[in-house]
Amino acid sequence: MNHTKLEGAGWHFDNSYAALPEIFFARQNPVPVRSPKLVRLNHALAQSLGLNAQALETEEGAQVFAGNAIPEGALPLAQAYAGHQFGNFTKLGDGRAMLLGEQLTPSGERIDIAYKGSGRTPYSRGGDGRAALGPMLREYIISEAMHGLGIPTTRSLAVVSTGEAVMRETALPGAVLVRTAASHLRVGTFQYAAQWGMKEDLEALAEYALQRHFPAAEDEDNRYLALLKRVIRAQADLIAKWQLVGFVHGVMNTDNMAVSGETIDYGPCAFMDAYDPSTVFSSIDSNGRYAYGNQPYIGVWNLARFAEALLPILHEDDEEAVKLAEDALAEFSGLFQQSWLTGMRAKLGIFNVEPEDEAFIGGLLGLLHQHHADYTNTFIALSFDRETETQLEQAPEFADWRERWKARLGRQPQSMEQSQQLMRASNPAVIPRNHRVEEALAAAVQQGDYSVMDRLLEALANPYAHASGHAEFAVLPEPPDLPYRTFCGT
Ligand code: AMP
Ligand code: MG
Repeated sequence: MNHTKLEGAGWHFDNSYAALPEIFFARQNPVPVRSPKLVRLNHALAQSLGLNAQALETEEGAQVFAGNAIPEGALPLAQAYAGHQFGNFTKLGDGRAMLLGEQLTPSGERIDIAYKGSGRTPYSRGGDGRAALGPMLREYIISEAMHGLGIPTTRSLAVVSTGEAVMRETALPGAVLVRTAASHLRVGTFQYAAQWGMKEDLEALAEYALQRHFPAAEDEDNRYLALLKRVIRAQADLIAKWQLVGFVHGVMNTDNMAVSGETIDYGPCAFMDAYDPSTVFSSIDSNGRYAYGNQPYIGVWNLARFAEALLPILHEDDEEAVKLAEDALAEFSGLFQQSWLTGMRAKLGIFNVEPEDEAFIGGLLGLLHQHHADYTNTFIALSFDRETETQLEQAPEFADWRERWKARLGRQPQSMEQSQQLMRASNPAVIPRNHRVEEALAAAVQQGDYSVMDRLLEALANPYAHASGHAEFAVLPEPPDLPYRTFCGT
């Protein structure tokens, strides 16, 4: 494997994950690809990482982003983890991903740089270790959309086409995505440690997670309980944010839940148009386990698996450990509700708290559901005093609800103008609607035309700008013949 200095690129690697006990990874180089071509580089992200986009937009940069050459200081490895997939526990690990190391950024952050689609690893099982261009561009678009929405997420630094075909149902153009993350520690990493490691391994992992994500918790009496509580809070906040924008993750397996509280794994995810808690896009989720409305429940289920994994180090007395875990988990629903209600109040221009708010908000959501009204556009209409344009206008109950809303806004010191400002800052006008994403991907993958994707990305970067040029992204699709379907393991 070539190491490259790539003069002036700005790489500044450290490899703290590689200092964990050996059970947590397998050293492994990416498998080179035939003819790498850089198709997308995220300039804003590169800059925040201290990387020089100009130096990376070169032949040599494409070699690095494809895994054909390794930046100096990087130490590639595949991470081991386990996971409950649709409720079933399995040993997994990076089957087609690889950690290059951690970039130390100018602002003092430590950010994982990882490949996705970089070839087989010891954890690949039957898979080819590769990824197709369409799904990697899809991850690029949706993860950047999440970032634009202000939701913690892994991000996409670059996509390289490989010049090789990957076999799925048909032959597809291959690609490697370069992903960044606060870390790739998952609930499943802890499950792996608890199941196949010694107690010391679990402790080392917990110490590492504390140091990386919750350094302030290191001084607490029971630091591992502090870790559990911090992760519970981070996930409650994250999932509340998903619910507020109508994001359906689609595959909330425990290996796809990051302890950092970032959204990770953009496989079958998609945004909901018409409000419906039973919304599912994933082709394999026939029971709706990961439906929109179930996400908070699955979140706490996954956190219970996290707590179970931590039991041996929560307390030396088993019963006491279980009690601590149960008490911590019991806080999830209140934390989630708090986060969600705060966000919902902001979406409706409400600054103060009234005990009936939850029922009042539920009333609006019930109407949205009943009338198949678009979630995003309804809140935008309310934010701009254009209620007459909503799909609810014909419903007499909506007139009642709106009266109550106006009265509710009157019971706070803030002016109507202040409420509207709050609403416009809290309700995105642009989300990555499925038909827009598909259109951008078709142009890019089939015609090599990235202009559609770039226009979409530009709008998604500023979803709260309410720019007149973004109006096209609020247009709903024609009712489809078939429901929109997304896929895992693409
Ligand atoms: P995911 O659905 O992305 O969460 O992946 C679940 C597991 O399957 C992880 O261990 C992945 O690394 C692995 N995996 C997914 N696609 C492939 C592939 N094409 N080759 C090897 N492993 C894969
Ligand atoms: Mg995954």
